[in-house]
Amino acid sequence: MLGHVSATRQARGGVLVLGGGFAGAYVARELGARGATVVSRENFMLYTPLLPEAASGTLEPRHCVVPLRPMCPHAELILGRATAIDLDAQTAEVETDEGTQSIAWQELVLALGAVPRTLPVPGLSEHALSFKSLADAINLRNHVLHQLEAADAALEEEERARRLTFVFVGAGYAGVEALAELSDLAEDALRFYPRLRSTPRRWVLVDAAPRILPEIPPPLGDYAAAELRKRGVEIHVDTTLGSVSADEAVLGDGTRIPTNTLVWTAGVAPNPLLREWSLPLDEKGRVEADELLRVRGHEHVWTLGDCARVPNTRSDSPDPPTCQHALRQARRLSRNLAGPPKPYGYRMLGQVATLGRHKGIAEVLGLRLHGFAGWWVTRSYHLYQLPLAQRKLRVVVDWTVSLFFRRDIAELGQLGHPEKLG
Ligand SMILES: Cc1cc2nc3c(=O)[nH]c(=O)nc-3n(C[C@H](O)[C@H](O)[C@H](O)COP(=O)(O)OP(=O)(O)OC[C@H]3O[C@@H](n4cnc5c(N)ncnc54)[C@H](O)[C@@H]3O)c2cc1C
Repeated sequence: MLGHVSATRQARGGVLVLGGGFAGAYVARELGARGATVVSRENFMLYTPLLPEAASGTLEPRHCVVPLRPMCPHAELILGRATAIDLDAQTAEVETDEGTQSIAWQELVLALGAVPRTLPVPGLSEHALSFKSLADAINLRNHVLHQLEAADAALEEEERARRLTFVFVGAGYAGVEALAELSDLAEDALRFYPRLRSTPRRWVLVDAAPRILPEIPPPLGDYAAAELRKRGVEIHVDTTLGSVSADEAVLGDGTRIPTNTLVWTAGVAPNPLLREWSLPLDEKGRVEADELLRVRGHEHVWTLGDCARVPNTRSDSPDPPTCQHALRQARRLSRNLAGPPKPYGYRMLGQVATLGRHKGIAEVLGLRLHGFAGWWVTRSYHLYQLPLAQRKLRVVVDWTVSLFFRRDIAELGQLGHPEKLG
């Protein structure tokens, strides 16, 4: 049931897409001139694979997002938060700055993504940093640079060492790429901190699984682990986080790590809002899709991306939460909305990840690449996938500049927090 609403409108083309992330934005883009109404909390799509580079400063943060209006020129965008759906009346309720609106739909697409998965670890919600949004990336960059300043100002060697210790929990794409990029940023920046030259820095990667980067084939994951160890990164697999405080992380095996930085990248959980909407969910809370990408039991409701459990006719297991799967699902779903629906099936053609400056890993059509070649293929792949020519060009310019200059090390924590007048 919907609450009080100030206005009712019809979704463009009868299609209402909830969520303007990777999955939702691509559905609207692929629908083309048929049009759709997209409800999104931001007026841009975040291209998450480039987020670690935005955090480390090889990319201007604005360039890893794609504005939704030019990306989906035929879609209508409503900036707001979906709060309720009525499956019988075929309406959805959206909170906007102008009040709550009801939107009538003939076809509803649920693309509400995921949220960081947290666990009941003492101190986690108070002391851990997240790495999921653009704001998180900018915050993490400023935090790391701030630790260098604090270490430089510290009078005790013990405090200096603690400030230069960085712990990342969760060794999937997000954790590994963020650690690799930020350790490169810190090394670049430390050239300007002569007092800290002799202070050891510690970069620690922790994961409960037996190996890092479970998303990619073991030989590539092993290469990534060897590469990170070569740089001095401590890797603790089969290890959980026991607790965290403002100045210490304690691992499940009792290891105590003095640190002021704990980054939590230990996976995602489907958007919790979906639990309130009487939809069929699996044990993880993902909306159950059928092979046509319809929500089971609901002919006019569709789902995809990180919020959905999507069966894949070309794979033995449901799709993992990745951009490339969200994109392929979006293509099939938009075609299913436009014509006779066909089952979704996609065989992965490759995997890519960066490990900092000039290092990366890639598997493309069975060919495994690492080092510079892996890095180059990874960048080329993202450039190819990034929508809008002007976005691609801005990214190329940033990358070209970063080939010749070191990273910018200004800490811009004041941005967005201007001092009050008077
Ligand atoms: C740091 C990081 C790095 C990653 N790197 C890679 C990578 O290298 N390769 C890869 O394949 N995958 C990567 N991923 C995974 C990839 O980002 C996701 O699989 C992909 O974004 C899923 O798309 P989605 O649209 O389902 O979810 P999202 O992209 O999260 O989009 C969900 C959207 O719904 C919106 N939303 C939520 N609630 C509401 C509401 N109530 N009303 C309106 N809108 C709402 C959100 O604001 C968001 O815009 C990475 C993820 C992260 C966090």
